[in-house]
Amino acid sequence: MAKLSDPVTILKGVGPTKAKQFANLNIYTLGDLICHFPRGYEDRTKLVPIAKLEPDVPACFKACVMTTPRTSHIRKGLDITKVQVADTTGRLNLTFFNQKFTTGQLQYGKEYIFYGAVSGDFIGYHMTSPVFEPLDAPAVTTRRVLPLYPLTAGLSNAAMLKAVHQALALCDPPAEIIPKAVREQYGILPAERAYYAIHEPSSMAEAELAKKRLVFEEFFVFSAGLALMRASRTEKKTDRYENLDLKPFLNALPFTLTGAQQRAIADILGDFQKGTPMNRLVQGDVGSGKTMVAAAAAYAATQNGRQAALMAPTEILAEQHYQSLNRLLAPLGIQTTLLTGSMKPREKAEVRKGLSDGQIQLAVGTHALLSDATVFRNLGLVITDEQHRFGVGQRARLSAKGSNPHLLVMSATPIPRTLALLMYGDLDVSILDELPPGREPVETFLVGESYRARIHAFIRRQVAEGHQCFVVCPAVEENEELGVKAASAWAETLRQTVFPDLRIALLHGKMKGAEKEAAMASFARGEADVMVATTVIEVGVDVPNATLMVIEDADRFGLSQLHQLRGRVGRGSAKSYCILTTHNRNPETLQRLKALCKTTDGFKIAEEDLKLRGPGDFFGSRQSGLPAFRMANLSCDLQTLQQAQTASAAWIEESGTADTPEANALSARIGELFSRAEGTMN
Ligand code: ADP
Ligand code: MG
Repeated sequence: MAKLSDPVTILKGVGPTKAKQFANLNIYTLGDLICHFPRGYEDRTKLVPIAKLEPDVPACFKACVMTTPRTSHIRKGLDITKVQVADTTGRLNLTFFNQKFTTGQLQYGKEYIFYGAVSGDFIGYHMTSPVFEPLDAPAVTTRRVLPLYPLTAGLSNAAMLKAVHQALALCDPPAEIIPKAVREQYGILPAERAYYAIHEPSSMAEAELAKKRLVFEEFFVFSAGLALMRASRTEKKTDRYENLDLKPFLNALPFTLTGAQQRAIADILGDFQKGTPMNRLVQGDVGSGKTMVAAAAAYAATQNGRQAALMAPTEILAEQHYQSLNRLLAPLGIQTTLLTGSMKPREKAEVRKGLSDGQIQLAVGTHALLSDATVFRNLGLVITDEQHRFGVGQRARLSAKGSNPHLLVMSATPIPRTLALLMYGDLDVSILDELPPGREPVETFLVGESYRARIHAFIRRQVAEGHQCFVVCPAVEENEELGVKAASAWAETLRQTVFPDLRIALLHGKMKGAEKEAAMASFARGEADVMVATTVIEVGVDVPNATLMVIEDADRFGLSQLHQLRGRVGRGSAKSYCILTTHNRNPETLQRLKALCKTTDGFKIAEEDLKLRGPGDFFGSRQSGLPAFRMANLSCDLQTLQQAQTASAAWIEESGTADTPEANALSARIGELFSRAEGTMN
């Protein structure tokens, strides 16, 4: 008996070359192989009489070889073998190309099972290169449901099939983790059967059942893991805040809070009274006023003698947050400072001293906050902005600088409600689904290449009025992807031929961190008229004077991402515009992009995006915060997800920590799943 952790090289026929190919698919062990699930199946179970074969529909049939196979050598590299077969309903001519060796196995007068599709003309049907097996041989490629595996160069489906078959014969599949009662309630196959049936199902129906079980299993492990995390959080203790009077803060605001902001703040104040650390996500569209919510939380913390820290992913965002928070909180007597990596050592040392002796109440900064040299006297609240850029590890490091501090995560990525719970794992969620009054939506247009001259004229007009423009391209360099605008080349073109008189800046992800920051800061200071950029501008920087964004080849982006990009304009008082360009003529694509012209509601756009593209693409290349599910698909399997959530919650409530084989196997699997997701989970 072999173990799931044994390397694939113990299998027959798997040497170093094959092992490398398997590694391309992230398959290293027998367990990986058993968890390499088919992407689909071909139903080769039914036998069809020759007379009933339909053109171009592949099928199995049993037939007797009526002629000795004859191979003709046509030219170098081309042999053709012909043979006639028959059953009681008819005859069929078979043709094989360059398969002398295989066809040599066909014996006159013997019966075989063939699988292939006939093609026909007025002379009659014939078939090209069917697969076949002797009637008395084991069914490997015919008379079965054939799994179709995700493959890689050099690795055939047949090789995969063989390897998986051996692995299943050599070791037990992963242990059962779903209790019998749950399996019975939801009609779920036992683990052992499911792992065999997913690879070697006796029918399409059985393959479906196996799939259902494995999807359920993944969700079950995931939601059980989240439930345990949540449970362990409520075991931590922290002091209750006594002073929750926000009146001085609210009076100092130049506006009244939106209903959504008030609700989010009420949620936070509720958390502060619980005596366990808050773990809350505030999710809101760009411009929904998340900073004010963070400010209210920071104010409350300082009124209770605690320090607060706000961490932003870039220096320039940190700087902006510092400016707006300091302006608001300084008159209320709250000492706020900035701490970033590029500050002079002496300045940093001074800030750190203020933090360790408690002089400074609110620190706004970058990763510099995480450094060992940064010590807080009494850190009670940790706030992170744009959480996609921070891993759990970083969040935990900042939290570790206090004793069970409250945690507030702010995200500008609207996530459909159905997914929020899943995405944010153990976080409670407050949603800012309301914009401050009087906002003029960014007017959005979708245009084709014929509008090029008008686009340029429009850019010119904005600049002439003293405003600035963004031009966003899908790629950085020309050769990256054929036929899409590349930022560097396009910036050059604009600079040299289109707008030689304007100041054109460039910003893309291949620039160094400091270079990017400098380019962005310079643009924010008004030192360039047009900034040509890739999606790196997506995160947060405020340039209120930018009133136009042109997004080139907009069909290359997801809807949510386009919405996110568009949020970079319309941040000042001037009317703002977004122009989406595309060469694409596909009606569905155009439909999708038009949705963006009609609404500026990030949540609606996210729902639409999720519906259209599924979660994998929906979250795009950015870290989704979700573990990589092998089988489950969030857009189709939501009902199963809900069932698994209910079931796992109930089970953990009853007996989750009991010392049963299932509970132990489950906690091992949770550890595995979450360590695979480490760094991306939030
Ligand atoms: P977000 O971080 O959610 O994108 P901000 O917190 O940066 O949004 O707020 C965007 C702008 O709206 C800021 O200039 C802020 O001062 C302003 N603002 C926030 N809340 C309100 C409100 N309730 N009424 C009017 N303006 C507001
Ligand atoms: Mg913000």
